[in-house]
Amino acid sequence: MAKKIPTRLYLSEDEIPRFWYNLRADMKAKPDPLLHPGTLKPATAQDLEAVFCKEPVKQELDDSTRLIPIPEALEEFYLSYRPAPLIRAYFLEKALGTPAEIYYKFEGTNTSGSHKLNSAAAQAYYAKEEGLTSVTTETGAGQWGTAMAMAAGYYGLGLTVYMVKVSSEQKPYRKALIETYGAKLIPSPSNTTESGRKILEKDPDTGGSLGCAISEAVEQAVKTDKCRYVLGSVMNHVVLHQSIIGQETKAALDKYGIKPDIIIGCAGGGSNLGGLIAPFMGEKLLGKSNANTRFIAVEPASCPSFTRGRYAYDFGDTARTTPLIRMMTLGNGFIPSANHAGGLRYHGMNPILSKLYKDGLIEARSAVQSEVFDAAVQFMKVEGILPAPESSHAIKAAIDEALECKRTKEKKVIVFGLTGTGYFDLTAYIAYNNKTMTDYIPTDEDLAKGFSSIPDIPQNKD
Ligand SMILES: *Cc1c(COP(=O)(O)O)cnc(C)c1O
Repeated sequence: MAKKIPTRLYLSEDEIPRFWYNLRADMKAKPDPLLHPGTLKPATAQDLEAVFCKEPVKQELDDSTRLIPIPEALEEFYLSYRPAPLIRAYFLEKALGTPAEIYYKFEGTNTSGSHKLNSAAAQAYYAKEEGLTSVTTETGAGQWGTAMAMAAGYYGLGLTVYMVKVSSEQKPYRKALIETYGAKLIPSPSNTTESGRKILEKDPDTGGSLGCAISEAVEQAVKTDKCRYVLGSVMNHVVLHQSIIGQETKAALDKYGIKPDIIIGCAGGGSNLGGLIAPFMGEKLLGKSNANTRFIAVEPASCPSFTRGRYAYDFGDTARTTPLIRMMTLGNGFIPSANHAGGLRYHGMNPILSKLYKDGLIEARSAVQSEVFDAAVQFMKVEGILPAPESSHAIKAAIDEALECKRTKEKKVIVFGLTGTGYFDLTAYIAYNNKTMTDYIPTDEDLAKGFSSIPDIPQNKD
């Protein structure tokens, strides 16, 4: 007889994964390499090490090693807040009256309130190992800045966080938390860097964007001794670190013989989605199982990198300083409207996910924020967790799929990533309650402006 499935499918501490899974090793059609923006040749480790820490660079460039060991000292840090629970959404299923089974992997149990700590911990560990004294980074919504502040604090590293100005104003408590962990916080654009000053000259009232903040953080890292830049999404090494999410999810489902039909994640730069789907996509690519599993990315309609973007080589930042990344992009000059899911306001998408999308292996859809918050509130009333606005994009799609199952009377298994909690997002919930939330959808003209910033190079001509 099948075991009754509990509400919380816990793993024990000795079942925590010992390895990260590198999905690229199992992709026959691999994502394209990063390019040096000057020579347009594949970026070398040496190029990247001017900006990033050494071990993450190695991981960034490695598309053939399947399993990469998690260092023991890092495993100890992970044990301070992992394994994360996989939760059966019995109450949501009941409220929806759906025959579908819904599960969510909850990454909001640590103080940063998101999955970002999984990669922050790894990057801080490697920076310390390498003998650096400080790192710089940017943060949009503040989750990454908080996660990085926690990790830097733990490993005794200095940290400067450039926080997108609108977010630092919308979320004063994020700022307070980051500073409490000992990091230095600078609203971006700022006059502390050349790229910040340039942006301010052009547009003194700008609320900033992740792209601007990245430029400032990179510049600061390059100019400072024993300092490198760390970032919380987009790059392949970040997705690698986040594979712990998918590995744990799969281990917990395997215990009960459960095979997901649909896996859903919200997508900003793609790290949680890439990490959640990795082992399931790997099995699909190898023809082992999950042949019919569908993978769905959900993004805000205000920043639609997948659904309205282009597959092209583009810069990761507004000042056009990063290597060129082949990805789904709205153009490095695209500045999304100030919607409430700050963690999803990024013009590009991780190269692995971009390639999978281009090859038809994952689907994508977008949602406007008022509908996303409808879903969030429906969820929190029955499941008892206040979701982050970013995570709520995945909730929205999970509810839609579950209602589709209700219409078709199918008992599908839906798994989604609940990437974090929304305690620092109550201004967004206030706007929702007061019905003052605006749904931003860029016009074709807005998009054309963004596309015009995509570099005009031979690689973008095909
Ligand atoms: C940053 C963030 C996201 C989006 O980032 P990805 O790299 O796309 O995963 C989603 N949810 C939360 C809670 C976040 O903090």
